[in-house]
Amino acid sequence: MRIGFIGLGNMGAPMARNLVKAGHELFVFDLSAAAVQSLVEAGATAVESPAAAAAQRPEMIITMLPAAQHVKSVYLGEGGIVSALQVPTLLIDSSTIDTQSARDVASAVQAQGHSMLDAPVSGGTGGAAAGTLTFMVGGAQADFERALPVLQAMGKNIVHCGDAGTGQAAKVANNMLLGISMIATSEAMSLGVALGVDPKVLAGIINTASGRCWSSDTYNPFPGVMEGVPSSRGYTGGFGTDLMLKDLGLATEAARQVRQPVILGAAAQQLYQTFSAQGNGQLDFSAIIRMYGVQEG
Ligand code: NAD
Repeated sequence: MRIGFIGLGNMGAPMARNLVKAGHELFVFDLSAAAVQSLVEAGATAVESPAAAAAQRPEMIITMLPAAQHVKSVYLGEGGIVSALQVPTLLIDSSTIDTQSARDVASAVQAQGHSMLDAPVSGGTGGAAAGTLTFMVGGAQADFERALPVLQAMGKNIVHCGDAGTGQAAKVANNMLLGISMIATSEAMSLGVALGVDPKVLAGIINTASGRCWSSDTYNPFPGVMEGVPSSRGYTGGFGTDLMLKDLGLATEAARQVRQPVILGAAAQQLYQTFSAQGNGQLDFSAIIRMYGVQEG
């Protein structure tokens, strides 16, 4: 298939590489020339702008951009995708953005005769490289079915969540829970250890008892409890504090729009904001345990 791909960052580059590997013909653009060059070396064709990707008459275009303002400008701005499309085209945005912006862009695109899916992912850069991402997809069933074989080259678990925006809604709900559960795990581990329990013994109990959760049994924040996770390597790699802060901001803003209380989500957002303001934005989000006075070594 001929596919346009815009946004070749930490996630987009490995995703695009997997599409090339699966035999698709890719037309790629990013503001970073180095990012484009690395995809050209993998077999993709460079284009000069989002509009130039659209002018190649691709069957679909995928975007993987930082935030809503980039998504709006790449699709709807001057030199954007929609201005240059010549035939009805399926457009897939995999960036994590707010539900309302996803719905607004989808309506604007549909008004010009094109189709749109919001398809944010979870699974991080490791999942992007391995082609094992989870895609949460919002949009029409027929468009989902057209996209499925292409998404399967980048992901393992592809879920149709409902109409436009519901992919982003599912993603934001899941990541809010992740932020809360990481803080809760940090709080519980710190308390138990402060009261004299060995951290490995405590984690072992939690992981087979009613407190068990992903933050505890797969990504434990307490240093030295688990191998191969950021807490065992100074909180480097993994999912950055500032990315978690972004997702919690999306959750609290979405909640405000529908007047839905997110009491713990808002508290988690403030805790991550404080932690980031203290200069920790680049650390993995499990480093939030340092807010409880836990230090390594
Ligand atoms: P990134 O910052 O590494 O990459 C974004 C890329 O978009 C950059 O290469 C940038 O140059 C490019 N870009 C920005 N504006 C552009 C424009 N106008 N035209 C063309 N290219 C432009 O970010 P990332 O980590 O790849 O994340 C992308 C999205 O995926 C974000 O919305 C993020 O929240 C989400 N996400 C990230 C992760 C993760 O672990 N990194 C996991 C799940 C979801």
